[in-house]
Amino acid sequence: MRPPRPRPTPSNAPSQVKLNPLFARPGEATELPRTRLPQGESLPETAYQIVHDEAMLDGNARLNLATFVGTWMDDHASRLLVESADKNMIDKDEYPRTAEIETRCWQMLADLWHAPDPEHAIGTSTIGSSEAAMLGGLALKRRWQQARRAAEKPTDRPNLVMSSAVQVCWEKFCNYWDVEARYVPVSEEHPVLDGHSLENYVDENTIGVVAILGVTYTGRYEPVAEIAAALDRIQATTGLDVKIHVDGASGAMVAPFLQPDLVWDFRLERVASINTSGHKYGLVYPGLGWAVWRTTDDLPEDLVFRVSYLGGDMPTFALNFSRPGSQVLLQYYLFLRLGADGYRRVHETSQAVATFLADQIGAMDDFELCSDGTGIPVFAWRLAQRPGRCWELHDLSDRLRMKGWLVPTYPLPDDLADVLVQRVVVRNGFSHDLAQAFLEDLRTEVGYLNALTAPMPSAARQSGFHH
Ligand SMILES: *Cc1c(COP(=O)(O)O)cnc(C)c1O
Repeated sequence: MRPPRPRPTPSNAPSQVKLNPLFARPGEATELPRTRLPQGESLPETAYQIVHDEAMLDGNARLNLATFVGTWMDDHASRLLVESADKNMIDKDEYPRTAEIETRCWQMLADLWHAPDPEHAIGTSTIGSSEAAMLGGLALKRRWQQARRAAEKPTDRPNLVMSSAVQVCWEKFCNYWDVEARYVPVSEEHPVLDGHSLENYVDENTIGVVAILGVTYTGRYEPVAEIAAALDRIQATTGLDVKIHVDGASGAMVAPFLQPDLVWDFRLERVASINTSGHKYGLVYPGLGWAVWRTTDDLPEDLVFRVSYLGGDMPTFALNFSRPGSQVLLQYYLFLRLGADGYRRVHETSQAVATFLADQIGAMDDFELCSDGTGIPVFAWRLAQRPGRCWELHDLSDRLRMKGWLVPTYPLPDDLADVLVQRVVVRNGFSHDLAQAFLEDLRTEVGYLNALTAPMPSAARQSGFHH
């Protein structure tokens, strides 16, 4: 075998992958280069074992209370996943049934989100909410450009108005597509975007307002109806007709089942489009998202491309070309398998666990809740003021990690950036039993930290957490 060229690695990792000696088989004494394509072949069993063993060292998804993304599906879903792993979503001609199922799925979502006429709504699957948000933002931008051009007004300074607590995908959208991001800061009085002082942010160059159903930092819902009412008032005084895109990455698959009377969706005429992550509370493995527009008019025709489909053509609007079709089939499987009642029951269980944990944690002397799990089954807390405390939330995250629990600590966005919070996302599979075990560990570690007589060293502390 050609010896790998020596190359400095940041971690000083050895340049060769040594095989796991537990599995003795001819050929396993080999070493493979870590960062170069090996010259020769390996037996499939050997290559499999290396990949399997390495992946095994990733964290335990069950104890990961940080992620929103699905980490469990049943055996039938696993079977479908393996059977359909070769399907390419873009090949509508080769996989017409998968294309048909994609359409059924977003039509079900359009109906679930009260599109006035689901038959004339338009939607698509995506790789996740980030891609769906890009598409929603692009449609807003193009509609605004068309209206401005028709009025013979300049189109060079578009802006998008949103909370400072938006998920990073919206910062990306504005950066990648040259749109000015106008952040409305969150504050103690206005912890979410609620329409307050919106008139100071919206002007003739505003392509839209993003409302978040399930803010990533805390799980809270932004009151979309109040934001719409504020925009109605702005229209009455200025004539500006500004549409809303709802980022329902998690909440759009929760609210229809747990808060059916909450009006946040296409029941509000101002809501032009909605995205959700199939792989969050849609309960599918990663990567699946959905974007749906109220009517075909809300998605400008010149953004839509036509691909060949059974001799005819099929409209598509996506950033990616090839991507897996299996996730769409998994979503359809779950829609059939669970139905509305099933989704309600699954999410009710998660919410019961979330509100139980929030109650217990909120009742501890050291903590104050920032949210209580009654929106999406997610809640966050901060430290209560107490002089002389020798630790802060990063220390508690570290202690919990020693027991296997992944609980992120991070600062809130502007203007609350000096507030550190900790958050738990309750997902399908985080049972009451596990919640009890977590609570016991939390109490033990808080007891340990409170018994300290000198401050924890903070030098090595750094937050690598991303929403
Ligand atoms: C997770 C999340 C996103 C990004 O979604 P992906 O599916 O991970 O791309 C966007 N917005 C909000 C509010 C989210 O919670």
